[in-house]
Amino acid sequence: MSRVAIVTGGTRGIGRAITEGLIAEGYQVAALYHGNEEAAQKCATETGAKVYKADVASFQACADAIAKIESEMGPIDVLVNNAGITKDGMLHKMPEDSWHAVIETNLTSCFNMCRAVIAGMRERKFGRIVNISSINGQKGQLGQCNYSAAKAGMLGFTRALAQESAAKGITVNAICPGYIATDMTSAMPQEVLDSIIRQIPAARMGKPQEIADMVVFLASDRAAFVNGATMTVNGGQYMAA
Ligand code: NDP
Repeated sequence: MSRVAIVTGGTRGIGRAITEGLIAEGYQVAALYHGNEEAAQKCATETGAKVYKADVASFQACADAIAKIESEMGPIDVLVNNAGITKDGMLHKMPEDSWHAVIETNLTSCFNMCRAVIAGMRERKFGRIVNISSINGQKGQLGQCNYSAAKAGMLGFTRALAQESAAKGITVNAICPGYIATDMTSAMPQEVLDSIIRQIPAARMGKPQEIADMVVFLASDRAAFVNGATMTVNGGQYMAA
């Protein structure tokens, strides 16, 4: 029986590449999305993933989605918490709802999704959880107090859950992508992107596939001894110890 993986935000951008990467390795993939029906249907048709609409910021929506996926596809072996949003602005101008939306979609979503799968993984003594954080959770970023806080929070969450879960055959790791060419970054002004590329030793943005390859490794049996780790995939832009 092939393993079952869930990828949140799995129908577009980095998540879509993760969906494709896991399917290529023989996983059955459930890709969660929020509102972009066109991208979801395209993903389902082109990759063979099953797509499910659920707001990862909602505890109940996550619990309901996991229950539905388990009834249709079987127990969850792999969870990739990839869904995320930005609502940038300097703190002195940031509306309260931009703070809450970013924290809830990027960070609280990890609690919501992990809470719904972790008991089953513990019972079955196997699980792989991969949390997609960000370079800006490691170094901070002007205009992103909300996003940097959420992504840094994901790293602490990852390490704590890894300690709780390791003895049960479960690994929990984080990936910090650098700047990757997706809808999220194409929304940025070209002059900002050009100035960022000048700071990247590799002198280019990353490709979604380059994040997906790391997810596929962390999900595999070969990565059983990698736990609580933060994997940076950023072209050398930020070399954390
Ligand atoms: P995109 O904006 O291209 O795609 C975001 C995905 O998340 C979409 O599938 C979207 O669904 C889904 N999503 C958003 N909000 C919710 C929600 N409330 N519930 C369920 N799904 C939701 O993002 P990227 O592919 O660029 O980024 C993916 C992850 O990687 C994010 O966590 C991001 O923070 C992180 N990251 C990205 C970097 C980059 O340079 N691109 C750099 C570092 C980290 P829908 O299609 O329905 O809107």
